[in-house]
Amino acid sequence: MPKEQADQQLHQQTQNTPLFNFEHSYSELPANFYSHVKPAQVEDPKLVLFNKMLATQLELETKDIPEHILAQIMASGESLTNSKPIAQAYAGHQFGHFTMLGDGRAILLGEHIANTGQRYDIQLKGGGRTPYSRGGDGKAALGPMLREYIISEAMHALGIPTTRGLAVVATNEPVFRENTFPGAVLTRVAASHIRVGTFEYAVRLPEPEAIRILTDYTIERHYRQLAEDIHSENIYVAFFENVMLRQIKLITQWISVGFIHGVMNTDNMALSGETIDYGPCAFMDVYDPSTVFSSIDRDGRYAFGNQPAIAHWNLTRLAETLLPLFHEEQNASVEIARASLARFPELFERELDIQMNKKLGLHKPNMKTGDNKEIIQNFLKILFDSRADYTNAFRALCDSTMEQPDFFNNDDFRQWRVNWNNRLQQLSISQAAAMQSMQSVNPFVIPRNQRVEEALLAANEKADYSKVNHLLQVLDKPYATNPKHLEFTREPGDTMQNYKTFCGT
Ligand code: AMP
Ligand code: MG
Repeated sequence: MPKEQADQQLHQQTQNTPLFNFEHSYSELPANFYSHVKPAQVEDPKLVLFNKMLATQLELETKDIPEHILAQIMASGESLTNSKPIAQAYAGHQFGHFTMLGDGRAILLGEHIANTGQRYDIQLKGGGRTPYSRGGDGKAALGPMLREYIISEAMHALGIPTTRGLAVVATNEPVFRENTFPGAVLTRVAASHIRVGTFEYAVRLPEPEAIRILTDYTIERHYRQLAEDIHSENIYVAFFENVMLRQIKLITQWISVGFIHGVMNTDNMALSGETIDYGPCAFMDVYDPSTVFSSIDRDGRYAFGNQPAIAHWNLTRLAETLLPLFHEEQNASVEIARASLARFPELFERELDIQMNKKLGLHKPNMKTGDNKEIIQNFLKILFDSRADYTNAFRALCDSTMEQPDFFNNDDFRQWRVNWNNRLQQLSISQAAAMQSMQSVNPFVIPRNQRVEEALLAANEKADYSKVNHLLQVLDKPYATNPKHLEFTREPGDTMQNYKTFCGT
């Protein structure tokens, strides 16, 4: 059979057995929550990354699909008869300023339902123009899409809730930014793409019931246990507080591994509690809470140490949208919102305390917040004063394969170590138990900026994906000591001192 005919036949087969088990619950929301769109056609797509592990987890049958057809599917949803592509409408506060936004270059193909009943958004990022594209071209460049894929997979491997990358397709079409770059589409998998900005959009719609409809939808999708909990007096207040708890958990996990999101606008905060929208994000190397990598974050609004305050700020914007639901009287509503938001600092401190105790092997159930505050603070001060690498400092405490950081020879540190050992003894935690538990929370390897850049450079300039693939493999088991990967634990050195990241467009 000629190749063309064989392809045609396969094409038909894939149409008969769609790759995804799609539902479209988002399209059942009122029509102003989204727009029907058609992904841009891509003439000659090439599949450059495909996440086999994730495909297995999603129960996708891909083995009989030839690569070029899979590339077409991941580039434009081509041949998926059961997709109903939409772009979602949303708004957001960007660097503190309110704007109407929406998916300007992302297209939701549908919600894939796995056998477990779990629902996953399947979205094409870089899939073409939509009614929300404003002046943009709806496209994405290869570098930023690979970057999102690498960092989000690294976050997943670190055990941090995140959207994920199923595939990256090179479109073989140029995209025009400050320079010309190769184009790409990222297939993104997310629990959903409902953002704080979606609520900011809903509450401004002319229909007053829109915010309740969206909230009920979000509860059903991400906080279903609340609907079943007979103790929750006001489900909307309980909903808000649970969103807050998930954000607190998420951001303390970011802090634990030194992650800086870089652009925590309200449209980049997901109600599911997943990390979303990897743009100028990066991992901190030298410990300094004022660290900023993003080229557009001139005032350090989204600096490492500002992330808790920004989460609180974003949650305040969310609470404002929920005022009509908290209580029928506005004053009472505002009081409820105030009381909930006022719990943030204490809840945050408790969660961060747990994370930091774990990082130093000092965690015990039933511990009071702040029991080890001095030891934690003193260690961080030593790191700050000696400009130590955050990741390697914690790992070196529990992993003898690591090179000893210079500050290990300082008197301050020697004294600190004595205090730390005493504290472990007081808590009846053996050295061996501490080392083991510390290794499970202090990564051996993270996506270091220089490694990410070098992998992206080879991909961008030479279409050489070997470094990207190797990096992905190294980052797959970040808590396991692997002497073969020691070079990936190296600190960046002076060459990366002025390292800047850019928004992923
Ligand atoms: P982000 O910085 O990725 O969170 O995007 C902020 C907003 O700009 C979102 O509404 C995006 O959909 C939109 N946007 C970003 N890049 C493009 C593009 N190339 N074309 C159209 N819209 C875009
Ligand atoms: Mg965004």
